[in-house]
This record gives sequence, structure tokens and C-alpha cells, in this order.
Amino acid sequence: MDMKINSHITRALNNLKKSPLKVTKQRTTLIEILFKNGDHHFTAEEVYKEVNKNKYEISLATIYNCLNQFTKHEILKSVRLSSDKVYFDTNTAGHHHFFCKSTEKLSDIKFSDVKISNLPKIPKGKKLESIEIVVNITD
Ligand SMILES: [Zn+2]
Repeated sequence: MDMKINSHITRALNNLKKSPLKVTKQRTTLIEILFKNGDHHFTAEEVYKEVNKNKYEISLATIYNCLNQFTKHEILKSVRLSSDKVYFDTNTAGHHHFFCKSTEKLSDIKFSDVKISNLPKIPKGKKLESIEIVVNITD
């Protein structure tokens, strides 16, 4: 399949090479599909549909595994909502999200667009890792 390589794909493939994961045809194909449209958010089921549409045969379980491995090695980021839905995000830099409950879509909020003026004291023995906010919206 002739797929245009863009800078997002190149960056993700470089991250894959730097990770301990083996560079396989399957992982490369998934990266090309996931990153071809730049920054966006998706669920494993959506990836599964997209993969099938492109006539690749990758099972949903394998896709879940790959997405989780990619997340572990910071090729992707995951966004967990209060519901049990997990979204994956090709934008791995720190940022916040709008989540529209009507359309079930996530969209990015620039990190610098949110100012946090008051934080509770971090529990003893713990350290702050990140703050990522989901702003729930609806139609
Ligand atoms: Zn995002």
C-alpha cells in the first residue's frame, strides 16, 4: 500500500526504533495508520475498524496489545475518562482535553491554556507526575 509518510509517522517510527520493541511489519503498519492524520484521538475499536477497512488482518486483541505497548514506550499516550473508555492520543506532549459527551470525541486544549492556581498537598511519600485535565462538554 502506498502511504504518504509525514513527519508524525517519521517521529513515531523513530520512537519505535528507540524503544525496546521490535520493529515488525505489523507495528510499522499500525503506526502508519495511526499517525497519518497527525494529532488525533481514537479508541482501540476505531483502530480495528480502520485497519479492516484497509484490508489488513490484525485482531482486536493484537491491536489492544500494540496500543498498550506503544503507550508504555511513549509512542502514544492514553487518556482515561471517568467512564471505562480509554482513548489513545498521537500527541504525547503534556496537554489537556475537552471531552464532548454528545459526540464522544476528545479535542486538545493547549497545556498553557489552563492555569492551576491551587493544588492540594501531595500525599506523603508520593510525588507529582503530571496534571492532565478533562473538561466535559455537551451539545
Ligand atoms: Zn490530545
